[in-house]
Amino acid sequence: MRIIELNVRGTRRRLKKRRVAVRTPGGKVVYHYKAKRHGPARCAICKKPLNATPTGPRSFMKKLPKSKKRPNRPYGGYLCPSCFRKIVLKEALREGEILIKGGISVT
Ligand SMILES: [Zn+2]
Repeated sequence: MRIIELNVRGTRRRLKKRRVAVRTPGGKVVYHYKAKRHGPARCAICKKPLNATPTGPRSFMKKLPKSKKRPNRPYGGYLCPSCFRKIVLKEALREGEILIKGGISVT
């Protein structure tokens, strides 16, 4: 039995289930509808899987409160903690540079 995965386009993309073409022993091609697989959420920079970001079907995700879906901090659910730290440090250093260049005039 050969299994061919289809790249489903258009309106069928919104199907809740993945359509898989399966060749039966009689030689016919029939479509089996299988549950979609959900990959983990990944960091936008280093592509590591993010912690504390559950994944699953929409029916499951809908029931979770927002605070259970991603870490409650800036860039939570988008960047991993180490990339977030790097970005914050870079921003802080740049801000400091601007302050030094333009004379110290903190209001
Ligand atoms: Zn990262």
